Amino acid sequence: MLQHPVTVNLPTDAIEMGKILRNLPVAIYTCDRNGYITSYNESAAELWGRTPKLGKDKWCGSMKIYHKDGSEMLLDECPMAIALQRGEIAESIEIIVERPDGGRRNVIPHPQIIFDESGQITGAINTLIDITEVKESEGALIESEQRLRLALDAGKLGAWSVDLVTGEAITSQRHQEIMGYEEMTDLTRDKYLKYMHHDDRKTLDVKFYDAIKNGDLQHEARVLRPGKPVCWIKIDGKTIYNEKGEPVKMLGTILDITEQKKAFSALEENEHRLNIAIEAAELGTWELNLKTREGSYSKRYLEILGLTAEERPVHEELLNMIHPEDLALRNKAVETAMQNGIFDVEMRIIHKDRSIRWIKGRGKVFYDEQGNPERMLGTIMDTTEQKRALKDLQESEERFKMVANRAPVMIWMSGSDKFFDFFNASWLNFTGKTLEQESNEGWLEGVHPDDVERCQQVYNEAFEAKENFHVVYRLKRHDGQYRWISDNAVPRYSADGSFVGFISACMDVDDEKQFNQLLQDRELLFKTITNVAPVGLWMTNARGENNFVNDIWVKWTGLPLEEQYGIGWMRPVLEPDAEYTYNQYIQQSALREKFSAEFRFRKADGSISWGLSEGFPYYDNKGNFAGYAGSVSDITDRKKDEIRKNEFFAVASHELKTPITSIKAYAQLLAATYSKANDNFLKSGLSKIDNQVNKMTKLIADFLNLSKIESDKFQLNKEIFIVNELVNEVVSDIQLVTDTHHIILDNAVIAHVSADKEKIAQVLNNFLTNAIKYSPQQNEIKVQVTFDEHEVAVSVADKGIGINPEEHDKIFERFYRAGSNKIYFSGFGIGLYISAEIIKKHDGRIGVFSKEGEGSVFYFKLPIVEA
Ligand code: ADP
Repeated sequence: MLQHPVTVNLPTDAIEMGKILRNLPVAIYTCDRNGYITSYNESAAELWGRTPKLGKDKWCGSMKIYHKDGSEMLLDECPMAIALQRGEIAESIEIIVERPDGGRRNVIPHPQIIFDESGQITGAINTLIDITEVKESEGALIESEQRLRLALDAGKLGAWSVDLVTGEAITSQRHQEIMGYEEMTDLTRDKYLKYMHHDDRKTLDVKFYDAIKNGDLQHEARVLRPGKPVCWIKIDGKTIYNEKGEPVKMLGTILDITEQKKAFSALEENEHRLNIAIEAAELGTWELNLKTREGSYSKRYLEILGLTAEERPVHEELLNMIHPEDLALRNKAVETAMQNGIFDVEMRIIHKDRSIRWIKGRGKVFYDEQGNPERMLGTIMDTTEQKRALKDLQESEERFKMVANRAPVMIWMSGSDKFFDFFNASWLNFTGKTLEQESNEGWLEGVHPDDVERCQQVYNEAFEAKENFHVVYRLKRHDGQYRWISDNAVPRYSADGSFVGFISACMDVDDEKQFNQLLQDRELLFKTITNVAPVGLWMTNARGENNFVNDIWVKWTGLPLEEQYGIGWMRPVLEPDAEYTYNQYIQQSALREKFSAEFRFRKADGSISWGLSEGFPYYDNKGNFAGYAGSVSDITDRKKDEIRKNEFFAVASHELKTPITSIKAYAQLLAATYSKANDNFLKSGLSKIDNQVNKMTKLIADFLNLSKIESDKFQLNKEIFIVNELVNEVVSDIQLVTDTHHIILDNAVIAHVSADKEKIAQVLNNFLTNAIKYSPQQNEIKVQVTFDEHEVAVSVADKGIGINPEEHDKIFERFYRAGSNKIYFSGFGIGLYISAEIIKKHDGRIGVFSKEGEGSVFYFKLPIVEA
């Protein structure tokens, strides 16, 4: 800002005025309108450090001037020059003038323009106010502030102040760093407290109030730092009072003392630990002056020796307590201590109670200023128990090793360091290596390369978890062959319950493993075979419950495997056949006989198929009955063929019946017509026709019966009748047309049955015609009727060709004809089949006793009923 030029009227008494100016303690000088110095006083010359040349030096008496900031200022830029050249007066600006000796002064020039009466500029007058002193004190203040900051920084101190009137608080950068906050703005005392640990807020607040009264604040508190561990700070503060003695401000510092705190607590802890250790170890302490041989001993020390504090033993007495055999040992330890400063001995002493005890002594030598040993400090410990425990342990180890080495299993043991340090004799014999070779990880070299990693993994995991483990791997035997080993390990614990490694028993399971492999292979083979077989396969247990069906049966029925077990497999079997099949199984398995049944079952696609199930009993290793095993074959196609065939038989037989009946009728008519004639040829011819027609009738009847049986259209017309009467009738009918054989009837008993008379007659008829047919060389047939409590039995015995016992069952099968003789005998092999079906339908039994060449006895038995 510029001031308006001021007009100065020179005093009239110029001389007087000049005097005053000259002696004024303020530098003053004048210039003409061109800037040449025209006058100056002494103070000005003193300030400049030189006398300017009047009329020659321009603007200022100093040769060099500077801006406040130290940069050089041209003389015609100085305030005097500006005032004269531009008529402007600059507001008091500070400049620096330099003396020829280099000294500098800070001055503030106050130039004034001088006008004449006509208002023309004639020159200017300048007053220079020397402010150097002021500046210096200012600088000192800044400097001291800087020093303070440096001191704070060096001491890693953060600074703070609180205005006790407004409550406003300010903190330094360093303060914020210590506290772990980037900035702490708008602080108040209350806000500040929030940075502190909850537990320290209250006490700090109390201390703060105390400090307002007492003047000093000293406190340690914890600071909550964002995302960092709590830090400890030491807070120091001082209260500032005004003239009235009222508190107005508190200034202070903070220091991070976290480390000290830690170190201190660590120190405390160490000391504490040491005490605990000494107590726990029950150490006695001692001190011996090596010059005077005077010793001092702790209470515990004396206790260890069996002495009391009152006894005050001297060094020599204590030496006497050392076991004579260990004295030399002790002396050697002292000698060593004199050399290297450390005393260490374990020896026996003779306790006050005369018992021998082990003690362990340790000590350290201290030296005087000349370096001569002066005293020794140390501890002793009673190690008798330790020694004993160690000895016990060694003994038990020995015992263990002895037992382990005799054990027939391979044993290894590992320690808490994870390494294997024991292998028993069985192991070493197996691998053919030495304990040294096997120890640590040596044994792993014998493990099959493919198994090493797995073994290590299992072991490492078990080691971590300290848990039992079982691992099977291949181990090289002494002969180079890899054998499968089953390794069962359990963790070991010492008496105090700490984990000390593992112990394991191993067995060579190679044979077993191979066997299992074989078993698995077999099983696979079995599975494959059963599942590729084009038949259903099944097995039951001894109780008749299904426990296996193969895939084919599952596929056929669409019933999931798990639903097949027990009697589930029967679900797809059609209702009418299921019961029959089941009963068949129950009956035949009770007798351990071959089981066989045909039934219809529903397939997965809903279609109905015929199955033939056949099974045989099987037995376990000990020979006990274990169940049935069998197959189901799909016989649908065969069944369809049979049905077609039966239909054909039925139709054919039916069609044959009519012409045969009419042949028979004509033959009988002719026989009646020519009965009186003497033409023997005619008569015998007609008789033969009649015979053949009868045979044919029987055959046709058989075929018809057969097709009826097969198509399940076989009906019984039951009535109650006396068996004997029927037998008499049939025998006399047959005898009538038989001239080759004589039928002897032994028919003494009377028995009632409920049966289809015609069909039973058919069975007996069948037996008799067979007996005649198959005993061509004989002439006698025996028919017998016998009975017991429940059944009546009818048997027909001949002395004919007989039947091989192996074929006894088969001859009751459809179309089966026995022996090689069949080529000499005509027949279809259906008579006995039909007979068997008839008897079965009557809940009766049919059978044969026979030997080749000796004849046969055919029989059937029927249940007797009340008349
Ligand atoms: P077929 O006599 O028509 O051959 P069967 O069903 O009546 O048919 O008899 C079946 C088989 O039993 C005969 O083929 C024969 O081998 C044998 N057989 C039946 N009865 C006797 C018997 N009394 N003596 C010897 N073999 C017999």
